[in-house]
Amino acid sequence: MFNNLSDKLDKALHVLKGHGSITEVNVAETLKEVRRALLDADVNFKIAKEFTKRVKEKALGQNVLTTLQPGQLMVKIVKDELTELMGGDAEGLNLSGTPSVILMSGLQGSGKTTFSGKLANYLKNKKTKNPLLVACDVYRPAAIDQLHVVGDQIGVEVFSDRGNNDPVAISKAGIAHAKANGHNVVIIDTAGRLAVDEVMMTEISNIHKAIQPQETLFVVDSMTGQDAVNTAKTFNDVLNFDGVILTKLDGDTRGGAAISIKSVVNKPIKFIGTGEKMEAIDVFYPSRMADRILG
Ligand code: GDP
Repeated sequence: MFNNLSDKLDKALHVLKGHGSITEVNVAETLKEVRRALLDADVNFKIAKEFTKRVKEKALGQNVLTTLQPGQLMVKIVKDELTELMGGDAEGLNLSGTPSVILMSGLQGSGKTTFSGKLANYLKNKKTKNPLLVACDVYRPAAIDQLHVVGDQIGVEVFSDRGNNDPVAISKAGIAHAKANGHNVVIIDTAGRLAVDEVMMTEISNIHKAIQPQETLFVVDSMTGQDAVNTAKTFNDVLNFDGVILTKLDGDTRGGAAISIKSVVNKPIKFIGTGEKMEAIDVFYPSRMADRILG
């Protein structure tokens, strides 16, 4: 995961990790390299620039050059800032409702259906949760089939209403079904399109208003880099969502989305998808991710 970024940051911090004398000049050089590594990872220019500015300020504030182990302190400052940039503390799901309703949003192909299954499976394994999946993609019968396949695979019931083309009505009926049948979590999988368009945004916004979910999650393919961040902004402007799900982190993704998304929409990344299998889901811990990136 993020091998390229890790290598570049490792190289950038190499001088400081060594035992040679550290001067203002090589701190400045290092920060330049750190910035270049972030830009290469597809981190937005402004974010990368502010990042290195904050690291520099902290380094000056903590008198890095006069400490016993300036290199290690610099690495720690970079790690702390990276953690902060990705969200600080991990944030869980709000599962306070009876049932708790989780609305999935995102573009087609982002991994919504797969993640809906993963999340249902994750919650089911918590024993106290009895999730229901609801299929609200009224445009693609294959999407409904796909959710049923996923549901069968993990042993979770799927509510669908083929022929009904009103996603608001289906989601409401799904919640009513959950109430009547003892499901304490409802995960609503919605229709996405290949690109942001008004029809999709109006539809998801209508569902959101009608059901008032405890959690609205935005699912995004991390492989799409800066586009992921732009799409997140558009969805957040409409939905004011609660958290981000970053999928396909197992692929050859450069890391820009993971690093930038929080500071653009100011919403936490809650989970990551790391494969096609139902078990490939992880809670997102910014500090662990920073450790991983900085090796
Ligand atoms: P949706 O259109 O948003 O519902 O997206 P899907 O759930 O159908 O996912 C689109 C494709 O991405 C499928 O082939 C999934 O198997 C794949 N996929 C979803 N999540 C992940 C992931 O975390 N890693 C990988 N490698 N593939 C994923």
